[in-house]
Order: sequence, then C-alpha cells, then structure tokens
Amino acid sequence: CTTEMSLIILTGLTKAFGGLTAVDNLEFSVQEGEITGLIGPNGSGKTTTFNLITGILNPDSGTVMFNGMDITGDSSYEVARRGLGRTFQITRPFGRLTVFENMLVPNTEMRTYSREQEDLIWSILEELDIDHVAENKADELSGGQQKLLELARVLMLNPKLILLDEPAAGVNPALMDDIIERIHGLNEQGTTFLVVEHDMSVMNELCDRLIVMDSGR
Ligand code: ADP
Ligand code: MG
Repeated sequence: CTTEMSLIILTGLTKAFGGLTAVDNLEFSVQEGEITGLIGPNGSGKTTTFNLITGILNPDSGTVMFNGMDITGDSSYEVARRGLGRTFQITRPFGRLTVFENMLVPNTEMRTYSREQEDLIWSILEELDIDHVAENKADELSGGQQKLLELARVLMLNPKLILLDEPAAGVNPALMDDIIERIHGLNEQGTTFLVVEHDMSVMNELCDRLIVMDSGR
C-alpha cells in the first residue's frame, strides 16, 4: 500500500550512557493508523528509545521526525503539545487525588474547569470504562485500572500517536483483554500506537507490525 504515511521516522538515533551505547544508530518508522510493537530483551534500549522520542532524553546524534516535523531535542512539553503522548512502564497517578481530579492534572494552572472539559473527561472515562470509579482515589484502583487512568490522562491532550511502555505489566489477564479492546477501539478512531511489551500473546493480539531491537539496534 503506497498511501501509507510514516508518523514517526527515526534516523541514525544514538544515545550512550558513559561507555554503554544504549541506542545505537537506530532506524525505524511507525505508519499512521497502525499499532506497532517494539520488542527485544531487557536492556536492549526500548525505554531509552521512548525517552529519546518524547524529549526526556536528548540523542547524541540522529533525528526524530514526527508528523512531518523534526522534533529532535524538543522538550517533552512541546512534544506532547504537538500530539505525541506516552504512558510509563511504572504508572504514577496522583494517588490521593480522585480519578476525576487526576484527569484535570494536565491543566495544573486551572482551579476551575469548563463544562466542555468536564464533558470531555466523562467521555474519556466512559470510553475506557472507568467512569464508575471517577470519585475513587487513584490509590484505591487496581493495577489495570491505574493503567487505564494513565491512558485516560494522555487522551486529554488528544494525541495523534501514543507510546505505551509495558501496558500489561502488573495487570491481571482478564483486565488485560479489556485494555487490549480499549486500545483497538482508540486505534479504530484514528489513534496510532507504538507499544513496548514483553507478553507476546498481548503483542500478537494488539499489533499490526513488530520491530525487534537488540543491543540498541
Ligand atoms: P529496555 O527498556 O529495553 O529494557 P533500557 O532502554 O531501559 O532498556 O536500557 C538500555 C540500556 O541502557 C541498559 O543497559 C540500561 O542499563 C542502560 N540505561 C538506561 N537508562 C540509563 C541511564 N539513565 N543511565 C545509565 N544507563 C542507563
Ligand atoms: Mg524498558
């Protein structure tokens, strides 16, 4: 299919920590509309790659193109504003805030919120099937529900592409089926995903395409 568009293009991406080259002249692309998986052994550089794409780390060399723009070295704030969201290997919701309050955290400056924002929050919570725990403290949620809350918060920024780092880690298999279904639903509505995950049965159900990393390549 020649109408495909690359949403992410990595060229010659390299990052060393002291003598260890964690990401080594890495090249790959992610096609718009697809769910792409990134697999590889522990320490092969998957999380570092996510950190380089989302501006948490600066590459030593190479470029990151997103949606036709060169975003190499842009701050994570700028990257998020341009439509590239991510979740983390270890979730970190604000535990003492409710689920609903967590959804407001991307707008920390605001003491109040509009009716429009409130509607958006409820529609996302419903889409991910966590609206019934909206008034619960985030600490009280199961591991899987916390993953969904993290995804819900990312969706507040209406991203074109979402990077998921180990969405199945710490989630019971029954809820994982649910999470897979939600990700497919969002994908059908147009969101592109790049997913790091060890569980190959999850990857098999989720991904259109797999990229294999080994020793940063
Ligand atoms: P993966 O996510 O594939 O398990 P990582 O990207 O986390 O791999 O790590 C790749 C390599 O880089 C590992 O050897 C890891 O120990 C090293 N590494 C990652 N982050 C740092 C850091 N901040 N400082 C030093 N070494 C790091
Ligand atoms: Mg990792």
